[in-house]
Amino acid sequence: MTESLSSPDARIPPGDGGPDCDYCGNRRYVLDAQGSLKPCPQCGVAQTWKVRAVDAYSSRNGAALTQTFFNFKTVFHGKEDEFLRDCLDSAEQFANEPDHRWLVLWGRRGNGKTHLCAAVANHLVNAGVAALFITMPDLLAALRQAMDLQTNTEQESYSGRLRTFKSAPILILDDLGAEGNSDWSDAVLFEVLDYRYRNRLPTMIVTNCALEAFDPRIASRMQDTAVSMVIEDNAPDFRQRPLEERDRATVHTDRE
Ligand SMILES: [Zn+2]
Repeated sequence: MTESLSSPDARIPPGDGGPDCDYCGNRRYVLDAQGSLKPCPQCGVAQTWKVRAVDAYSSRNGAALTQTFFNFKTVFHGKEDEFLRDCLDSAEQFANEPDHRWLVLWGRRGNGKTHLCAAVANHLVNAGVAALFITMPDLLAALRQAMDLQTNTEQESYSGRLRTFKSAPILILDDLGAEGNSDWSDAVLFEVLDYRYRNRLPTMIVTNCALEAFDPRIASRMQDTAVSMVIEDNAPDFRQRPLEERDRATVHTDRE
C-alpha cells in the first residue's frame, strides 16, 4: 500500500486497499463501448467485489480475524497431539491448494477446529480469494432472515443467498450438525453440499457429529475419498479430559 501513496499518477488515492491502477485511475470502473460502467479489467476489482460479496455473510469476525495457522496450538495437555497436528497440516494444505478438494474435520475437540476454519478463510481472503467461512447455524439464519426480508434485490433474496452458499468459490462450513435437524435444514444442507459435490467446488466442513448421524446422501459425499480428505479424531482418552474441554455434542460418549 505504501507504493500507491508515492505514485505521482494516482489521481484518486486507492483508499479501498486495491492496487494503484493506471488503467482506471483507481476509479475501479471503466466505460465500455456502449457507455456502460463495468469493473476495471486491470486491477482485478471484479474479484475484489466478489470477495466482499461472499464475505458479507461470513462468520469471520472478532477473534476469528486474528486466528492463523501460526498461532494454532497443536499441544494438548503438555504434549503434541496427533489429531490436532493432522488438522493443522490438512487445513494448511487445503488453503494452499483448494481446487476441486473437500476437507472434512471430524472430531469432538473444543474450539481448535473453528480456529482452523478462520485461519483458512483469513489466508484465502487476504490473498484475494472469494472464500466464505460460515457456521451452519449462521447460514440457516441468513436464509431464514431472507424469508422475512422485503427485498427487491435478487442477491438478497432467499434464492440469491442460497445460490451464494451453493456456488461460493470456496466454502468453509463450521459447526455442521449444531443446527439441530429439521426437514428444512436437512434439505438446505443437501442442496448446498450436493451442488458443490457435483461441481467439485472446494469445501471445508467441520463437525462434532458422527458422520453416521447425517443423511446418508450427505455422509456419502463427505466420505467420497476421490474428492474428500477426512481427518477424524479417534482419541481414546477423550473421557479423561477436563469437563470444560468437552463439548455439548458428545454427551453420549461420556458413559463410564
Ligand atoms: Zn483499474
